[in-house]
Amino acid sequence: MLQCASSPLPSSLTVKPRLLRNLLLPILLLLLTLGFGYGGYLISEGAGTRALIETGERQLELHARGVESEISRYTYLPSLLELESSVTRLLLDSTPAHRERVNQYLEGLNRRAGSRAVYLLDTSGRVLATSNWQDPDSYLGEDLSFRAYFQDAVQGRPGRFYGIGSTTGEPGYYLAHGLVHGGRIVGVAVVKVKMEALEERWEKARLQAFVSDENGIIILSSDPTLRLKAVRPLSDQDKERLARSLQYYWWALNEWQPLSRQRLADGVEAISFPPQSPEGDGHRPVSYLMQSRQLNDTPWNFTLLTPVQDLRREAMIHGMLAALGFAVLAFLLIAWNERRKVIATRLAAREALEQANNALERRIAERTSDLRASNQHLREQIRERRQAEDTLRKAQDRLVQAGKLAVIGQMSTSIAHELNQPLAALRTLSGNTVRFLARGRLDVASSNLEAINDMVDRMGRITASLRAFARRADDHGQARLGQAVDAALMVLQVRLKQVPVNLHRDYPDARLAIDQTRLEQILVNLIANALDAMSSQEDRQLWLEGRTEGTDRYRLVVRDNGPGIPPDTRRHLFEPFFTTKPGELGLGLGLTLSASLATAAGGNLSVAYPEAGGTAFELYLPLLPDMEPPA
Ligand code: ADP
Repeated sequence: MLQCASSPLPSSLTVKPRLLRNLLLPILLLLLTLGFGYGGYLISEGAGTRALIETGERQLELHARGVESEISRYTYLPSLLELESSVTRLLLDSTPAHRERVNQYLEGLNRRAGSRAVYLLDTSGRVLATSNWQDPDSYLGEDLSFRAYFQDAVQGRPGRFYGIGSTTGEPGYYLAHGLVHGGRIVGVAVVKVKMEALEERWEKARLQAFVSDENGIIILSSDPTLRLKAVRPLSDQDKERLARSLQYYWWALNEWQPLSRQRLADGVEAISFPPQSPEGDGHRPVSYLMQSRQLNDTPWNFTLLTPVQDLRREAMIHGMLAALGFAVLAFLLIAWNERRKVIATRLAAREALEQANNALERRIAERTSDLRASNQHLREQIRERRQAEDTLRKAQDRLVQAGKLAVIGQMSTSIAHELNQPLAALRTLSGNTVRFLARGRLDVASSNLEAINDMVDRMGRITASLRAFARRADDHGQARLGQAVDAALMVLQVRLKQVPVNLHRDYPDARLAIDQTRLEQILVNLIANALDAMSSQEDRQLWLEGRTEGTDRYRLVVRDNGPGIPPDTRRHLFEPFFTTKPGELGLGLGLTLSASLATAAGGNLSVAYPEAGGTAFELYLPLLPDMEPPA
């Protein structure tokens, strides 16, 4: 028998964890997938940002140097005027002739240097000569003492200044130098440079960059909208100071307002603009990596903006790939696990089947050996029964034989009488015949001889039937009922003469499965008993009535109108040696033997007590198909 090895928990309790697991697993997997995706996104973003910072730093360095070289190109130019004697002359003695000369000189110098303007101020800040002396918006005579570059230069410091020209309203980079003569500063030389070339270069290189000055105002930018915006909040005082200095003319100096700013490292910031801003694509904030560095020899800062949109997109793709990878891996793991479970279940089932098979084979073997033992036992019993049967049959045969001999012995007186009478007659007849022959009376002798012949025949029949009765027979013979009745009556002929009966024969002839002699013997016994019972009465009736029953049985009733059998005798009838007959008349074997013979042939013998009186013996015997037509 298979035993289930599962836990003893009731099924209602075991269902719950499984249900929980079935519900939790997908949620867990979903969370893990999202987690992996987000992790992938973060890692990719981090790595991308680092790479972007490195590239940005190189770009920053490259372009900052470009700006520095552009600025330093003109650094020497104002100091050059010190070498020019006409300049010094003008400063010392400002005659129109000197002025004109210097004007022309400055015009030539400006043209050659490619600057916007070169001009000369006296120590009070008034323009003495300028390269644009012929232009309508010439600086000549203008008072620029308020300019910071002048104030620096007149005190011997290099004047560096970005501003919007008060005359032209044009932005430019101003470089000023105090001109020394005789150990004192006698004037200031100023060069105004335009730096749009830098912006154009950035634009061409699709670079987003700007330069902010010492006030935090963007003075150069690849994006024109950023120009003159403050990169850091300006206090009101600063605003006022700057407005008064007219450095940025009348510009509003609005603050540059990114949506968010986050410091990532030294000089590196993440910055994003609102979607509506010109930088945005209209839907999402635009983010940049902002890297700055101070430009050498100036208080200015160069800032590079690197868009991180591509980086984000890439990180998103990497995140999705990570999530997808995890999902595929999880799916493969689950599939593998399921397959493993299926294989395990199959193996368990096969093992269980094998065990069941083995158990079955064991049981079959046990049963077989049991069966063999009981078979052997049965065989021995059969053998014993056969032996007993054999012994019984032999005893029965011997009994039959004894019974027959007893009947013969019982009848010996009658037989002797029956044989002696014809013998005496034969003696007389044979003597007479001899005498008649001697007298030549052949006719009488011939009739005597015929009578002798008849008598010898009769005596022969008597001895033949006795011999047949005494003979041993087998159990599987066959008999003709009519012949058997005739033979029995022949045997009892003598008795019938002494006790005449009214015989009623009412039976169809039949072929029965019993030895002929045995059937005769049964009939002799039954008829003899009837004769005995009726011997002391006047009216003697004997019925022999036969009928076939079904297809294979024959019933013969031997009935008399004798005195019947008293009740206390009835139960002893078939016991051997039970007899009510006096002296040598009865042996008590007749019914016993007859019943045995009938049983041995497959039939039986029983007794009935008709209401009308008398006794009826019923003999049942197997019927054989009648092959020959009835005689
Ligand atoms: P036996 O004839 O030697 O006595 P049986 O076995 O043939 O032995 O009969 C046993 C007894 O059965 C008889 O003694 C008799 O009392 C009784 N019996 C048998 N047949 C009849 C019969 N037809 N009518 C009355 N009694 C009978």
